[in-house]
Amino acid sequence: MVNDGPMQTPSPTPKANPNRRKFIKQAGTLGAGAALASQSSLWLPRVQSQETKRLGYALVGLGGLSTHQIAPGLQKTQHSYLAGIVSGTPSKIKAWQAKYQIPEKNCYNYDTFDQIADNPDIDVVYIVLPNGMHAEYTIRAAKAGKHVLCEKPMANTASDCMAMIEACRDAGKELAIGYRCQFEPHHQTCMQLARDKTFGNLKVIDAGFGFKIGDPNQWRLKADLAGGGALMDVGIYALQACRYLAGEEPIEISAQETKTDPVKFAEVDESIVWTMKFTSGVLAYCSTTYAFSGINRFHAHCDKGWFSLNPAYSYGGIKGQTSKGEAIEHPEIDQFAQEMDDFSQSLLQGKRSRVSGEEGWKDLKVIEAIYASIRSGEAIKL
Ligand code: NAD
Repeated sequence: MVNDGPMQTPSPTPKANPNRRKFIKQAGTLGAGAALASQSSLWLPRVQSQETKRLGYALVGLGGLSTHQIAPGLQKTQHSYLAGIVSGTPSKIKAWQAKYQIPEKNCYNYDTFDQIADNPDIDVVYIVLPNGMHAEYTIRAAKAGKHVLCEKPMANTASDCMAMIEACRDAGKELAIGYRCQFEPHHQTCMQLARDKTFGNLKVIDAGFGFKIGDPNQWRLKADLAGGGALMDVGIYALQACRYLAGEEPIEISAQETKTDPVKFAEVDESIVWTMKFTSGVLAYCSTTYAFSGINRFHAHCDKGWFSLNPAYSYGGIKGQTSKGEAIEHPEIDQFAQEMDDFSQSLLQGKRSRVSGEEGWKDLKVIEAIYASIRSGEAIKL
């Protein structure tokens, strides 16, 4: 695997330099707006809102992510609150109502979901269902006149992504994707380091994310519900990171897959390594797996040094370093609270989200090219 191979970057031992450390801290907080504003359509400047209105969110699917991350995140938001829930399990609805004081009129099941159109308490529908259900529920939410925040990966196919974008556009509603890392300050600092060329021109990115998956019967291993395996689930974080560090789109993809457990991974991918060539010549080599834990990083090699995050994509505990021996340090934030408040602020200010549906569609186009390269054994031009 890539992380054991000859291209692995040795772990540096940082020497603390208080002055430099201070700069790196500020880069992610004070400078992020300037860095983001300097980019094209991918980024929009963040304007501090005086608006105190909170938007009501309805969570669709009360599984692990909703229970352990999103609902707790909604207790920390300033512009968003948990207004409603949608679940097929009546006992879950009762438990959530009691825990979060959600009125009966704001609770739905999958059959009554479309009646959400008549509920003024719900501004945003947050889709937290298995990937293969994202398109249907996004389109239904848009037709019900609601803005949509949809978890990653946006959908099983790029054409489903486009149908979601068009449904929201036709309904005059906004669509954003749950790319939480884009709101995480270590990641924002790294975006700025790349934009500012602090370590020179970006040349090569090494990025990967994987973990050892358990229960062989879960939906993540079923093609219709998951759309794919490790790549769709967690490899997408490495793909996203490469795109937002490079600040441009890949033009050529090559990929290889291996299955060491063809029974467990009969329907979806187990481990994939892929390379991407970007417009300016930046190269990325990436990996993803469901076979083992331990890859959770990116390393950006520039012509005058490097910067990296490892672990990079966790909910917390992100650590960054640079070739100058500095640590990239920021206080811990709740990425979900940040992501939802950013969407609410975008809506309140009448702006596009920086993690719009088009971002999700672009990732699915690359993912489809990765699968096409695996099938054909050839490089795919985009
Ligand atoms: P989960 O299995 O814990 O929850 C899925 C929910 O969907 C459950 O409540 C389940 O009852 C419901 N559901 C409805 N119809 C279903 C069906 N036909 N099959 C299976 N479940 C069905 O999954 P999760 O970990 O909460 O993931 C949900 C979504 O969130 C996925 O798209 C996943 O990729 C995404 N996710 C994102 C992050 C992140 O960090 N942004 C982390 C985890 C999951």
